[in-house]
Amino acid sequence: MSRQLIAGNWKMNGLTADADGLAQALRDGVGQVGDAAELVVCPPFTQIAGAVRILAGSRFAVGGQDCHMAAKGAHTGDIAAPMLRDLGATHVILGHSERRQNHKELDETVREKVVAATEAGLVPIVCVGETEDQRSADGHEDTVGWQIKGSLPHGFADGPGVVAYEPVWAIGTGRTATGDDVATMHAFIRAELVRQFGDAGHGVRILYGGSVNAGNAAALLAVPEVGGALVGGASLAAADFLAIAAAARG
Ligand code: PEP
Repeated sequence: MSRQLIAGNWKMNGLTADADGLAQALRDGVGQVGDAAELVVCPPFTQIAGAVRILAGSRFAVGGQDCHMAAKGAHTGDIAAPMLRDLGATHVILGHSERRQNHKELDETVREKVVAATEAGLVPIVCVGETEDQRSADGHEDTVGWQIKGSLPHGFADGPGVVAYEPVWAIGTGRTATGDDVATMHAFIRAELVRQFGDAGHGVRILYGGSVNAGNAAALLAVPEVGGALVGGASLAAADFLAIAAAARG
């Protein structure tokens, strides 16, 4: 199994002084963490260049939080995957539930963005996960199964792409899925990946996301089939994010 990936999603947080300070604190503190984890932070677009500059030569890669499906053109306000690459980003989060909800992104949109990101040389981190209502109605596996089928393009498992299982009800709420739920969902996702991509599906990393913090990271990262964590709120404090990174297994 490859190293666990710990990815920080800063969301829409960070004016320059804060973002630079956070990147610098991560750089200064990462020496204490051990080298089990692969590390990436995803600042808002405006802070990517600064993070790339501050984290250059460190163990941290830098990613975006979204990209357009076209490489360039008349798309006012959007950012293309080659633009992220041009800034020095290596990863991009796609299909986050906040984009699926707030921007009405469909699986098909996410799939086209994954293709664009891959063509630009970025590692796509593709988010899937059910809402509370879908779980209550016992529709979590169906929901996530359809998202995987619809959001991941042909050949996805042959590349470096990552899937992040993020139950929507656990994002930013302080509620985490239980270890048993995470184990069940990650096993389900693995089976879907193998069904869709054959043997190559065994190699795709599956992250867990949803209120991961310094206190619960070790338990969540020890669950079978958990290939790392996608961390929102706790990635905004360097000490917390580094503590989560320290809980990773190699
Ligand atoms: C996220 O935004 O991807 C996330 C998991 O957020 P949080 O860790 O704050 O729940």
